[in-house]
Amino acid sequence: MTAPASTVTLRLRLTTTAERHVRGGHPWVYSDSVTEQNRDGDIGDIAVIYDKKDKFLALGLYDPTSPIRVRVLHAGKPARATPEWWLERLLKAKTIRLAHFDDDTTGFRWISGESDGFPGLVLDRYAEVLVLKLYSAIWLPMLPNLVGWILTTFGASALVLRLSRNIQDIARSRWGVSEGCLHGHTENLVVFRENGIAFEAEVIQGQKTGFYLDQRDNRARVERLAADQDVLNVFSFSGGFSLYAARGGARSVTDLDISKHALESARRNFALNDWAAKVPHHQIQGDAFEWLASGPRQLFDLIICDPPSLARRESDRAGAIRAYHTLASSCLKRLRPGGILVAASCSAHVSADEFLGAVFDAADRLCPSVELWRSGHAVDHPASFAEANYLKCLALRVSRA
Ligand code: SAH
Repeated sequence: MTAPASTVTLRLRLTTTAERHVRGGHPWVYSDSVTEQNRDGDIGDIAVIYDKKDKFLALGLYDPTSPIRVRVLHAGKPARATPEWWLERLLKAKTIRLAHFDDDTTGFRWISGESDGFPGLVLDRYAEVLVLKLYSAIWLPMLPNLVGWILTTFGASALVLRLSRNIQDIARSRWGVSEGCLHGHTENLVVFRENGIAFEAEVIQGQKTGFYLDQRDNRARVERLAADQDVLNVFSFSGGFSLYAARGGARSVTDLDISKHALESARRNFALNDWAAKVPHHQIQGDAFEWLASGPRQLFDLIICDPPSLARRESDRAGAIRAYHTLASSCLKRLRPGGILVAASCSAHVSADEFLGAVFDAADRLCPSVELWRSGHAVDHPASFAEANYLKCLALRVSRA
């Protein structure tokens, strides 16, 4: 009698190039890199990859429906995905974060996808609530076990599941899984602290997992630049940069966002922090490109410009670079002499060189400037491979002349 296919370990071999990439720590194996396979695989099957000499190369999760055929969990020494092994990996991610945060920061990323050995999976903490966001269907077959291990490791009063749009249908039809609370109960708005500032996260319906945790360190840098400045926060969302600027001693803070919903959230976030009441807080609802180019002639000392991803796919790249150039020019024209532009890009398809090049070029055409700093994402968003380095941020001070 032969065993059912799914109980036979899925074994793969790869092209020489893919083998080298996996050995070098790259976590994605594309379908055209698989040269041998002992059986058909199903979504979420554990795949063991062997090298040309028949030695263990890596362990991954298989997905026959995705161009990324295997997402690597682990490469190097032979390993088996036992419950203890999964728990150990969760504990490792936890230990790293515990070294960085105290009670002043209760919103951060416990697990950051591939770079923590959990490809296509993000786990964020907002106070006592966990938000698990899945970007790949590979996790769905093991979801009940995974949630159990996560709760054991991190503890929570509630765990909310969020699914990227492309896996929502299959999650429902094949595994009966939909977005929502998988453990405990939570309201949509959860209050947490970031460097001592209270914020709300919209954990059930919000963008990403409810807040942009990746900008934490850049927000802290903005706080240090804000004293006595009139600050404009372009693409302000829920006012993250605005509150840091207010605490840094800004003379005034203005949010600019197209979304009424986002502006309302920013107002609530100001109200959550007593000390913020003394800083004049203004809001403009409108399209940032239009307002910056042709809105009322208002100048600022510090402008933060952190748009949503402008390149969702490779074909958007050139247009996105032009848009970063346009935004930087328009912001620079609204700075007073000696003012500062903090420009950010979260487009994974636009490289740091391309983004920085666009901002520097816009600056060179308008006025002399000096770079104050450049940076990426916060410490709880480690990047173990190039594609994970999506966030770029640059601060420039324009000439006083
Ligand atoms: N800087 C924010 C995150 C920005 S998210 C933070 O640190 O939290 C992107 C924001 O841009 C969203 O709030 C969205 O409503 C807004 N947005 C998208 N397109 C816009 C446009 N054309 N003009 C103004 N705001 C826009």
